[in-house]
Amino acid sequence: MSEPQPDDSESESSESSESSETSPTGFAALGLRDELVTTTNALGYEEPTPIQRLAIPEMLTGQDILGQAATGTGKTAAFALPILNGIEPNAPAIPTALVVVPTRELAVQVSEAIFKYGVEQRIQVVPIYGGQPIHRQLQALRRGVHVVVATPGRAIDHIRRGSLALDAIRTVVLDEADEMLDMGFTEDIETILETTPKDRQTVLFSATMPRRIMKIAEKYQRNPKQITVGAAESAADKALIRQTAYVVTRHHKSNALGRILDMEGPSSAIVFCRTRGEVDELTATMNGRGYRAEALHGGMDQQQRDRVMSRLREGTAELLVATDVAARGLDIDTLTHVVNYDVPSSPESYVHRIGRVGRAGREGVAITLAEPKQRRLLNNIERLTKQTFDIQKVPTIGDLREKQITVTVEAIREAMMGDDLEDYNSVLFGLASEGSERTIALAAIKLFHQGRGATADEVEIPDASERMLRDDRPGKGKGKGKGNYDGDRGGKPGAGKGGKGGKQVGNVGPGTSLIFVGLGRKSGVRPGDLVGCIANETGLTGRDIGPIRITENYSVVGVPEASADTVINAIGATMIRGKKARARRYVD
Ligand code: AMP
Repeated sequence: MSEPQPDDSESESSESSESSETSPTGFAALGLRDELVTTTNALGYEEPTPIQRLAIPEMLTGQDILGQAATGTGKTAAFALPILNGIEPNAPAIPTALVVVPTRELAVQVSEAIFKYGVEQRIQVVPIYGGQPIHRQLQALRRGVHVVVATPGRAIDHIRRGSLALDAIRTVVLDEADEMLDMGFTEDIETILETTPKDRQTVLFSATMPRRIMKIAEKYQRNPKQITVGAAESAADKALIRQTAYVVTRHHKSNALGRILDMEGPSSAIVFCRTRGEVDELTATMNGRGYRAEALHGGMDQQQRDRVMSRLREGTAELLVATDVAARGLDIDTLTHVVNYDVPSSPESYVHRIGRVGRAGREGVAITLAEPKQRRLLNNIERLTKQTFDIQKVPTIGDLREKQITVTVEAIREAMMGDDLEDYNSVLFGLASEGSERTIALAAIKLFHQGRGATADEVEIPDASERMLRDDRPGKGKGKGKGNYDGDRGGKPGAGKGGKGGKQVGNVGPGTSLIFVGLGRKSGVRPGDLVGCIANETGLTGRDIGPIRITENYSVVGVPEASADTVINAIGATMIRGKKARARRYVD
């Protein structure tokens, strides 16, 4: 076993095994102001992710960026930190940056991130999105903000009302641009880009780069710097490593990890986290679950690191919870499992991490916990490793109990072979008059079983892999080219003339439900309004939604069966084109 590198390793890239540099550490090296370096440090970010390393210095020079990066690569900080870098602490609260995102969920998430990163500078940021009462947003804008994070439709509303001042905007970011185009927001995005100052910096991030995105870039960006992360480079020969992924929402992650490890029973595992905070939190959780877990991160001094290493060496710890940087150079011969508590932000980092098992012809296990939106990150890794993930369902309480019983049976079977059983004869003799040998045996088994900390879980963990697989199905919900519904803004005049005899919404596949919405063309409804409303209110993505048909008086939209009731309630609770809509299941 070799020791992890001490403090000087903190300046190295966490994503590769390249030789160390003598440059200042992490975020400071990118040229960010002190407040931001302090904040990223406090957040436990030890190193910039690849997209941050590439995008931040370019953005700081005012360069336009055309970035290809998926969720989970750290792209929010990649554009947020340079934006914040240009705002002096206590600067007047006038919007200098506008971030446009496809959904309400993302608007809230991005503005929370910006708030968090800008806390030292007292940055004011507001998310504005459809579905929320506009007066609350008007108030926030009137009070003054430095950064606005908006969904396209609501941004246009505010621009038209004059409530969103654009004169001082220096940077416009289009985040998840492909998703926005899929949702039919092309026109709104173009309007936003036409109305913001011409000399602005335009930053476009997209997980994919279809022709439609390139057209926007050509029209509205000036000589953009193209940045791609997650591209495949070489194959890693990891045939001896079983690579499994589980799809769970963030909320259930630690519980899911506990259950997966209970099933796997690793003798020695390393769990990689993104931040120091996550390392500390997860270590505490896993200890609470009965594991002997140790934390290792860059915030620890050398003495603490040494202590952790000797506990591992002696076998008194079975789980090491670590950040990439802290675990650099760490080589544990007996390691059986590598766990990615988060999908690593680059495929190279994944290969580097899992390279710690499966050595010298031994078998190893690599477990990755992914959130439903991280399919693309998994795809990138699959391309690099030339292996596909075995996407498993998180074990149920039933699975776990079964496993625990198997372990108990095996342990007792082994004990039955022992030659020291007679030593306990006096205990059996003492109980003989109080019950049958069967009763005594069952009581002893119960004590042993419980003593091992078995059956701790009571709550099922929802399996999110269905949602990820659905997101990944090619063409699902987009309906482009099918010709039986409106796929882009404005729709097809006369498509599906309504009611009987009109065109059917199409061959909806199994698992898709059609929802009737009591507003149509007469009310000015366009596909983007429906998709925007549903996506914002329910968290479904543009890809989940469709086909769509808009007739004169009503519309019909396809949504995943499992979300049908949520969608009906959500539509009923909001306004579309300023009107209350009725929604119910559609019967042709
Ligand atoms: P994003 O791709 O922007 O959605 O970010 C994914 C997650 O990575 C978020 O939870 C961030 O807080 C986290 N994150 C971003 N940058 C870093 C970094 N340099 N080190 C550790 N975690 C990070």
